Amino acid sequence: MLIVKKFGGSSVADKERIFHAARRCVEDYEKGHQVVVVLSAMGKTTDGLIAKAHEIDPNPPKRELDMLLVTGEQVSVSLMAMAFHVLGVPSISLNGAQVEMRTTSTYGMAKLKRIQTERIRNELENRRIVIITGFQGINKYEDMTTLGRGGSDTTAVALAAVLHADRCEIYTDVEGVYTADPRIVPDARKLSEVSYDEMLEMSSVGAKVLHNRSVEMAKKYGVQMVVLSSLTRAEGTVVKEGTKMERMLVSGVAADKNTARISVIGVKNEPGIAFKIFNMLARNHINVDIILQSVGREDRKDISFTVARSDLQEAMTLLNENREAVTAQNITCEDGVAKVSIIGAGMLSNPGVAAKMFESLYSANINIKMIATSEIRITVLIDEADANRAVRTVHDAFDLAD
Ligand code: ADP
Ligand code: ASP
Ligand code: MG
Repeated sequence: MLIVKKFGGSSVADKERIFHAARRCVEDYEKGHQVVVVLSAMGKTTDGLIAKAHEIDPNPPKRELDMLLVTGEQVSVSLMAMAFHVLGVPSISLNGAQVEMRTTSTYGMAKLKRIQTERIRNELENRRIVIITGFQGINKYEDMTTLGRGGSDTTAVALAAVLHADRCEIYTDVEGVYTADPRIVPDARKLSEVSYDEMLEMSSVGAKVLHNRSVEMAKKYGVQMVVLSSLTRAEGTVVKEGTKMERMLVSGVAADKNTARISVIGVKNEPGIAFKIFNMLARNHINVDIILQSVGREDRKDISFTVARSDLQEAMTLLNENREAVTAQNITCEDGVAKVSIIGAGMLSNPGVAAKMFESLYSANINIKMIATSEIRITVLIDEADANRAVRTVHDAFDLAD
């Protein structure tokens, strides 16, 4: 078998964890399997590197920031190779440029385009464990890029897809995917399996246990993922095509605090304004989430939407620079907000799910600022200070606890 094993930052945070992870890889290697290991930067290294960059330059050039961030993963893979050396197992570490992980050119948010597998295959044939940096690649200018925070999961799934791996195991600091973040809801229940679609919605609205693009890619290439603990032997969560006959009404609750709301007030009530606003943001790689447009009054209307908090400043600068072009009378923003969402494939065929969510928030005296829905998700925007309480309240209302 060919197995891809990805270890997140906390799973390689120190010497003990690195050896622990290495031993789990050796177990499979010694059974005769081919093992590809994908690693994140140790512990909170990436946060530390970003902070260092900002000490020097509050607005670092994106190319240089990526140049810095990719070093985190390189530290992990080389140390892991040394751990294998100590354990007497042949291995080799490779970075994103060495395996030619080609990406788009957008620094900080690059997308994987193709991966050269020849080198990896050769090393595996020579019975080496191949340890590859997560989260990074190389663009057409031969420069290093990163895939966005949490992107190592996507590297692992991409490798599993191109190598036609038999397993793709994502090791982390919890025992799988839960009905809510177990750090917010201690009695959240571990799911034995979750469908790609549900997981995609969950990770897109704040369940950072998996990078959302890793789930998207897994679905596209039919890669079955397992999310497991790097510390215990508990059975994890399988992420795969939905097959259960009776789908759960609601399979999870998630919160996303990296959210801010922008309101473009008093724009002309005429064709093309929404296009101008969102096209400008898109061209600058700013993702927009919930969008709300007010009913026009006289010849004016308001357009509100949410962006990632990390994009707020850039979005506000752009909008203010183009205020006349978008005909806005005023532009305001608020960053103390959070999104809380429920996700479940069973929602499709069950009316009343939204009402139940809103009732539980009402009973907890939590005010809803915006609402958005998809076929299998309902999201509300609320005050950030209420977010954890909202997750627990809604989790309770749908009886999701263990
Ligand atoms: P890694 O460094 O291994 O990639 P992450 O910190 O990215 O780990 O993701 C794991 C974290 O995701 C957990 O520690 C947990 O707090 C959080 N999390 C959020 N939502 C969920 C969920 N529904 N199920 C499990 N973990 C979740
Ligand atoms: N080290 C990167 C981050 O912290 C990538 C990852 O952990 O997946 O975002
Ligand atoms: Mg992660």
